[in-house]
Amino acid sequence: MTKLYAIYGASGCGRSLMLVARQQLARESDVSENQTSEIVFIDDALTEIIDINGHRAMNYAAFVNEPAESKAVQIAIANSRVREKIANTLEADGISLWSISADNVILMDDVQIAEGSALSPFVTITSNIKIGKCFHANLYSYVEHDCVIGDFVTFAPGVKCNGNIHIQDHAYIGAGAMIKQGTPNQPLVIGKGAIVGMGAVVTKSVPAGVTVVGNPARILKQK
Ligand code: UDP
Repeated sequence: MTKLYAIYGASGCGRSLMLVARQQLARESDVSENQTSEIVFIDDALTEIIDINGHRAMNYAAFVNEPAESKAVQIAIANSRVREKIANTLEADGISLWSISADNVILMDDVQIAEGSALSPFVTITSNIKIGKCFHANLYSYVEHDCVIGDFVTFAPGVKCNGNIHIQDHAYIGAGAMIKQGTPNQPLVIGKGAIVGMGAVVTKSVPAGVTVVGNPARILKQK
């Protein structure tokens, strides 16, 4: 029987993570097992099974109905609330979250990452770092020493997350943003659900739920 893997979401995020999924599967596969495996797309906008970039693509109901020895899913959707909702559905259906990592990702010492992460090409995660569920680190992002990152956190490409930074659940860090390092006694904290705008230079802690932009990053007032 086939081991079935899926990338959930066939839009930009999902299609750009499919190569990473293939690299992950190639590393996981044990040729001696003599087993077949397939990676498909899941996207709920689909009403029939089609081909996307050489992979079968189907909606979630069709995926659940596919015969397979095991199923594992990478939720490749940038919106963290959607990732959480889908993660809960998968858990209720007994389908595991699949962590995928590009071949050239560098993980240094004592890096703990919970299930469901997606680490894109050129991501570097240094030492003594703890990261929660369904973390997305897009192209060229890095996480420096002694950071603690919560669940469903999203890094767009090129995020520079320096040492001793704590990022709480559902925070979104925009492309090219850089966050100043904290200290062991006083980490810089990005609060729950906060959004850091692209290119922002974050020099101090950011409260939960706000959006910060600019250099130095300041809270964007809601109009
Ligand atoms: N999607 C889905 N199920 C959901 C929510 C979203 O299959 O419950 C799909 C949606 O149809 C779309 C993709 O996820 O194809 C999200 O794509 P979008 O362009 O919004 O964002 P990105 O690819 O950047 O995450």
